[in-house]
Amino acid sequence: MPVLPPAVTALSRALMVLPSVGERSATRMAHFLLAEGRSAAEALSRAIEGAMSKVHLCKRCQFFAEDELCALCQDDIRERTILCVVEKPLDVVAIERSREYHGLYHVLHGIWSPVKGRGHDCLGIERLSERIDSEGIDEVILALGMTVEGDATCLYLAQALSSQGVKVTRLAQGMPKGGELEFTDERTLSRAFSGRSSV
Ligand SMILES: [Zn+2]
Repeated sequence: MPVLPPAVTALSRALMVLPSVGERSATRMAHFLLAEGRSAAEALSRAIEGAMSKVHLCKRCQFFAEDELCALCQDDIRERTILCVVEKPLDVVAIERSREYHGLYHVLHGIWSPVKGRGHDCLGIERLSERIDSEGIDEVILALGMTVEGDATCLYLAQALSSQGVKVTRLAQGMPKGGELEFTDERTLSRAFSGRSSV
């Protein structure tokens, strides 16, 4: 017979979905929440429920939003003719931290990765293309990691957008080879933005 009640095991398993959390850490967390941290566990549970019910993807750029449009798309001060294409919402946060970029974003939610079974049809090129036309975008900045998948995605997007008469650039200068954007420090990102080159 299992020693722990099934609900404790279920909680441990649920915690294992978090990045970098293995079985042992998940078990320790579950025990903490049930033994010493019950009030923290209740607050955590409410916060997760609140975020899941209120937060969705911005209708325009696919960043996180509570309204139809995210705070960035609603911000009138931002430059509205430059579009920065990123892989995930965390990349937007990293770029905003660098304070170098003041245009709009487009979040792909994944890049071309045959290993993970993601083809270029997952990139939503029609949606991006439609935004470039309807919003009068002059420049698309591809801010993707310097990985094999990032390189392949940039190449594909640059080719796919070449007929739209839009300038396509990529962050490159100083970006670490093989590096993910979300782990790149602010100064490097800032340099990479000002030194971006045409694709
Ligand atoms: Zn938005």
